[in-house]
Amino acid sequence: MFRPRDEYAEPYRIKMVEPIRQTTREEREALISQAGYNLFSLPSEAVYIDLLTDSGTSAMSDAQWAALMRGDEAYAGSRSYFHLKESIKDIMGFDYVIPTHQGRGAEHVLMAAMVKQGDRVLGNMHFDTTEGHILLRGAEPVNCLRDVGYRVSEDVPFKGDFDLEKLRREIEKDPRTVPFVLITVTCNNNGGQPVSMKNIKAVSRIAKEYGIPVFFDAARFAENCYFIKHLEEGYADKSIREIAREMFSYGDGCTMSAKKDALVNIGGFLATNNESIYRKAIEWQIPFEGFVTYGGLAGRDMEAMAVGLQSVLDELYLEDRIGQVRYLGELLIEAGIPIVRPTGGHGVYLDAEAMLPHLRRDHFPAQCLAVELYIEGGIRGVELGGCAFGREDPVTGEAIWPELELVRLAVPRRVYTDRHMKMVASALARVKERAHEIRGLKLTYQAPVLRHFTAKFARE
Ligand SMILES: *Cc1c(COP(=O)(O)O)cnc(C)c1O
Repeated sequence: MFRPRDEYAEPYRIKMVEPIRQTTREEREALISQAGYNLFSLPSEAVYIDLLTDSGTSAMSDAQWAALMRGDEAYAGSRSYFHLKESIKDIMGFDYVIPTHQGRGAEHVLMAAMVKQGDRVLGNMHFDTTEGHILLRGAEPVNCLRDVGYRVSEDVPFKGDFDLEKLRREIEKDPRTVPFVLITVTCNNNGGQPVSMKNIKAVSRIAKEYGIPVFFDAARFAENCYFIKHLEEGYADKSIREIAREMFSYGDGCTMSAKKDALVNIGGFLATNNESIYRKAIEWQIPFEGFVTYGGLAGRDMEAMAVGLQSVLDELYLEDRIGQVRYLGELLIEAGIPIVRPTGGHGVYLDAEAMLPHLRRDHFPAQCLAVELYIEGGIRGVELGGCAFGREDPVTGEAIWPELELVRLAVPRRVYTDRHMKMVASALARVKERAHEIRGLKLTYQAPVLRHFTAKFARE
């Protein structure tokens, strides 16, 4: 299984530091009220420990900084594009590569090429920008996660797996309306939960029966492979590289947010083995992302990505990374804070409904908890609950609430130490003591899609 955290330390030395500063509670009260109780509206300098996201927040390695200098800034035919393409082919086995400015650029290009109005895109559990892109195409995002994936306190492995019967039922409603099946590894929205190789293989087999392509949302592919190695029978002696190769062999391509497991601050790509999908996708890439050989990126960004994709496969790195997330989870469990079990790859997810049982869904308990954690310790998490995933029924106008009401504390890669994790746990323990006094929030502004980024709240 996993080596205990006190048997090893960070497998790197720190070469450069960025100062951060604590604010006072009074400052934070004022700042969060000015921000309309939305943590996305805070200036990052007002945040002490920033766990809003693990996206684009990684510390790059010396090898990646060195690679930046090798960037070829040609508009067409950049050498850096070919380095990126080789790195992707080497790890994932895909021949056609379209760089994009970040993951959602790849989602846009893929959806525009493949999804029509009235289609249904089936997945284990779509990420919020993925869901946004599907809705923007006039199509329906359908989650086929197995039920246990929604049960927050059940500590079983591979809670990112598909319910295979549900997948088949959804396909059989009308296979012609399913442009592809999307496997999100790891499954971000229910806690960074991994998908097993056995399940991936079965999903791929079912989709193939109906001639439906399979894509991966590969943002955290290496973290998923690490879990397979440690939790799934038959993989203990395989390298992360071998596991990744096998995993991608069950799909036709992937979208990738390189801001996660490519260890860079910006970038993404669409990769596929299907030439006709590639041809259609570049029709959309060129007007929206720039020419095929740069996709909204500088040559140096593609170089850093090419190197990051290789270094993320390092097992000592993955052990430390996933070990730190598990360490934070253990501290919170000790403090009696309800969290999603088991801890996933990139963050710890707090169960806001269990922590604030006196609040109704339309009080946005997860948003309230995120706000209180900021006020308590200057720590920024993100709401993944009724605000991020709630919708209004287009016909009745009634609120549709998502299954889960969570706050995600995403841990940036190679950025914070275990002492930062201790500060987070002690601030949350203090919030827990006064949890019963926390009042609800009400929405005062919302955008039609992806409302959590710009929503404004007032205190009840
Ligand atoms: C971050 C993320 C995306 C979107 O990528 P961006 O780089 O933020 O545009 C898509 N899917 C998953 C699972 C993600 O975590």
